[in-house]
Amino acid sequence: MKVCIHCEEEFDHLSRAKAKVGGKINECPTCVELLGTETAVRYLGVPSNDGKMAGIQIIACDDDASREAYIRAHRHNSGMNKGKACNISMTGSTVMGGMRGIRVIGDNLGNPNHKGKS
Ligand SMILES: [Zn+2]
Repeated sequence: MKVCIHCEEEFDHLSRAKAKVGGKINECPTCVELLGTETAVRYLGVPSNDGKMAGIQIIACDDDASREAYIRAHRHNSGMNKGKACNISMTGSTVMGGMRGIRVIGDNLGNPNHKGKS
């Protein structure tokens, strides 16, 4: 337990609510949300779904809403919600181009020449 520097209330700094909103260690979750003291950009890593183990893409999201929208669309399109590791969706795919609040920070795409031939 710690005491918040803003409202001087005692709070659990190891709680899920604190981990979710972030902020400094001596700021309670409520004050972090009210004062907007969390400034870190949350990154999101997703598999590139080209069938290569090394293929990942790192995304920066402006807010939680755009992050959730991206994850939802990615899982829908990749078949992750059905326990399948392929780009097959029985209900059609969600358009992911031009999603707002999303920036690609980096990617590590697998070698498409998977037979090792030049
Ligand atoms: Zn507080």
